[in-house]
Amino acid sequence: MIQIAYKREKCIGCNYCIQLAPDRWRMNKKDGRSVLLGSRNKRGLYTVKVSDVEYEANKASAKVCPVKIIRINKLSR
Ligand code: SF4
Repeated sequence: MIQIAYKREKCIGCNYCIQLAPDRWRMNKKDGRSVLLGSRNKRGLYTVKVSDVEYEANKASAKVCPVKIIRINKLSR
C-alpha cells in the first residue's frame, strides 16, 4: 500500500497530475483545483491509501507538480 497526501489549497490547476495519473486525479472546473479521487480531507490535507500499482504514476505526478504539494508515502503492511 501507499499513501498519497495532497495540500489542495495550494494547487494552481496546471493539470500535470491528471495527465500522469488520470485514474486518481480530476480537475474541478468550479475552483480550478485538482481533486484526489477517494481522498479524505483533514484540515486541508487530503489523503488516500491505494495499491502499489499506482505508485509509479503518482510518484511522477508528485515530481512534476510545480508547487510540490503531492507526497507519496510507502506504507508497511
Ligand atoms: S500538478 Fe500540482 S499544481 Fe498541478 S494540478 Fe496537480 S496538484 Fe495542482
